[in-house]
Amino acid sequence: MFNPEKFKNKSALVIGAGKSGVACANLLAANGFKVLLSECKPLKDVKNGLKGLSRTVKLETGGHTNRAFACAFAVKSPGLARSSQVMRTLKKRGVPVFSEVDAALAFSRTKNFLAVTGTNGKTTTTALLGEIMGLALKKTGGRAFICGNVGIPASALAQKARANDFIVMELSSYQLEDSSYLSPAVSCVLNVTPDHLDHHGGMGAYVKAKEKIFKFQGKDDFCVLNYEDPRCRAFFGLCGAKALYFSSARRGGKLNAYSEAGALVFRAAGVTCRIKPPALPGAHNLENAMCAGLMALAAGVKPETLKKVFARFKGVEHRLETARALNGVAFINDSKATNVDSTMVALKALGRTKNIHLILGGLDKGTPYSPLKPLLRKYVKEILTIGSAAGKIEKELAGVCPLRPAKTLKTAIRTARACAARGDLVLLSPACASFDQFSDYEDRGRKFKELVRRLK
Ligand code: ADP
Repeated sequence: MFNPEKFKNKSALVIGAGKSGVACANLLAANGFKVLLSECKPLKDVKNGLKGLSRTVKLETGGHTNRAFACAFAVKSPGLARSSQVMRTLKKRGVPVFSEVDAALAFSRTKNFLAVTGTNGKTTTTALLGEIMGLALKKTGGRAFICGNVGIPASALAQKARANDFIVMELSSYQLEDSSYLSPAVSCVLNVTPDHLDHHGGMGAYVKAKEKIFKFQGKDDFCVLNYEDPRCRAFFGLCGAKALYFSSARRGGKLNAYSEAGALVFRAAGVTCRIKPPALPGAHNLENAMCAGLMALAAGVKPETLKKVFARFKGVEHRLETARALNGVAFINDSKATNVDSTMVALKALGRTKNIHLILGGLDKGTPYSPLKPLLRKYVKEILTIGSAAGKIEKELAGVCPLRPAKTLKTAIRTARACAARGDLVLLSPACASFDQFSDYEDRGRKFKELVRRLK
């Protein structure tokens, strides 16, 4: 655990000048530490993110100097591999290394901490839970702060939260791996499927990272788990907190949440209720809603509050987001689908008939596209390929359905539109990263929406 008192008046190293690094450097500086922010990239690559950096923070870019290794403790950026040279040097010199989340929580004035993890669905669940908590706390003057992997560093708001506020944090496996001691009042693991294995060095280490979300919880805390995920189910025996289960595939029994006749049934924290789920496509979104709902009930929220928020929740940008309906054709932005699994989720959620014009491609992630085949045969009218992965996609998916090389998003949208009939969907769910043609998936999603908006 990071104890700021132990390092009083000492110098702190923050490695990595990304969003969370800058926020953490500011937080430590505001609390009296002499802070060095050290970044291996050249200044020109990180300059834009440094605008809010406190003047009292010292900065070095283009590499880590001896000044960095002389610091009393370090906070690392979640993206930095443990096997990296800088981490090895810190270890050799005996410099304790903490995560940005550890540092942020050490300065937080609230103990009300809810934490969300899983391979997929984290942001949607965190956003929904944040809205529920926000509404529930309104009456008491409390607030809910959403932070973490959602793109708002915990360090940026740790000190804003007062004792009666709640912190609702999305935690990636990277952030969990680095954290030394987390004890959320309510946690969850939505699902665990192979992802980021390069970074963690294997499935075992990835699962171990996920376990850290409940590892230090006490017996009065709660952990919400997906009953249909075998890895989540295996956590039951390891979890010291009270486990609550949801399932989108079965009903009743010991389950604390399940789906029945168009409603979600909750049975937890002394409450039994039936609530209409948010109007979002797919069984995966029912899972996200069950998970957020159980977490909220475990945190003491009333069913009426869940009901109100479920009725108005519109999902999160770039996740199966309807961009526009034009002449009976819906244009859907699922730019966040940066891997094959996510595109499969999208096709399962939206597939009814063979009416989807699917835009695939971007920067290849090194995994095969063939798992898409059965869903493509069922639901996809044509594939439009874009970006540097186009050649590989065309080769692997040849013969499954018509393929049109479009190169760019603009051409793909225009081509799809020209071929689409009333009732069809044009879906950007690219199964690839975006960095070959866009700055990130958000940039890709925004450009998709802008191009679609401009269609006449
Ligand atoms: P994360 O923050 O974990 O990446 P998001 O809520 O941003 O999750 O959703 C990203 C993508 O993951 C979605 O577009 C969808 O394809 C898929 N997804 C969302 N929720 C789930 C879920 N519960 N199970 C499986 N896949 C999901």
